[in-house]
Amino acid sequence: MSSPAELTEFVIRQAMELGFAKAGVTGIETPAHYEEYLAWLERGDHGTMAYMDDEFHREARQNMQQLLPSVSSAVVVALSYSNAEVKPPNTGEARGRVAQYALGDDYHHVIKSKLTALAEALAEQSAEPIESRACVDSAPLLERELAERAGLGFVAKNTMLITPGLGSYTLLGVLLTSAILAPTHQDSNRDCGTCTACLDACPTQAFRGPHKLDARRCISYLTIESQEPMPMELRPLVGDRVFGCDVCQDVCPYNAVAPSRASVVPQLLPRDNERARPVLAMLASLGSNQRKRYVSGNPMRRNRREQLLRNVAVALGNTAPDDPTVEALADDRNPMVQEHARWARSQRTTSS
Ligand code: SF4
Ligand code: SF4
Repeated sequence: MSSPAELTEFVIRQAMELGFAKAGVTGIETPAHYEEYLAWLERGDHGTMAYMDDEFHREARQNMQQLLPSVSSAVVVALSYSNAEVKPPNTGEARGRVAQYALGDDYHHVIKSKLTALAEALAEQSAEPIESRACVDSAPLLERELAERAGLGFVAKNTMLITPGLGSYTLLGVLLTSAILAPTHQDSNRDCGTCTACLDACPTQAFRGPHKLDARRCISYLTIESQEPMPMELRPLVGDRVFGCDVCQDVCPYNAVAPSRASVVPQLLPRDNERARPVLAMLASLGSNQRKRYVSGNPMRRNRREQLLRNVAVALGNTAPDDPTVEALADDRNPMVQEHARWARSQRTTSS
């Protein structure tokens, strides 16, 4: 029968073989920053993500047994994605910008299938029957704190997990398991120090201070989560971004060592050279079936049609308000899209 330490060694070795860049184990204690999370909710910084504030989500983030009653340990894994910018051909057309994590396959599926394989390997290795649950974003966990506790890195001022030597271009997953594993925590003496580059560079000044993000101002929230009209005062600050934002990671000195494309699992690599900088007119002209094909199996499928067109209208207003696509969007059947196109039109005098 394997000891907890042997099982931990086994599970980390398996995780690396599955392509994870980092893995560790922690216990199931309530996260130390749980009260800060509650304060974040109290301030309303989660915006319209009301699900985050329901009873189940609050309780599960405090007590992992809400997600798996038999849980004894949490295996935390990090998968790298590439931040290498892929330059599209210069066609002279107005282009948007998409966050790097969203250029390949949907990481939820990629990580979940790897965690399922990890759970199966762990079950085979264990003498006792075990239960496990693979969690990727959809389950309410404070993943970044668990990752820090498991020794994967530290939670930085921009609220991302930074793994020294790997940077922050990683996606996290957690395998909750009834197997009793030895925790891997090592005290990290790395932190942000006096650096404030991310806080200073954020286009919308979404940080209230170190570790404090007002999601309502964050471009990732505005272009992905929010289904509402974009606040007027933030539209000019969104620039050409149509799905997510990487600024507070791009400026981070820890990301100077970000992973090469060779170390990224193939599913997370950009699907093509245009994905990071799609032509805005192309995005606006996608019919229903074309749009489904374009976002199939990709994170951009989280955008409804009207969200994507709203984002395209704002990007056009900021970069190419004279583009004929603005007029096409002004005639769209959706009132929110129409209004954002009228706003884009109104930018002609200020930007030309
Ligand atoms: S993702 Fe962009 S908008 Fe959001 S906090 Fe980071 S820099 Fe600011
Ligand atoms: S940019 Fe500086 S302050 Fe921000 S996360 Fe990186 S090291 Fe920390």
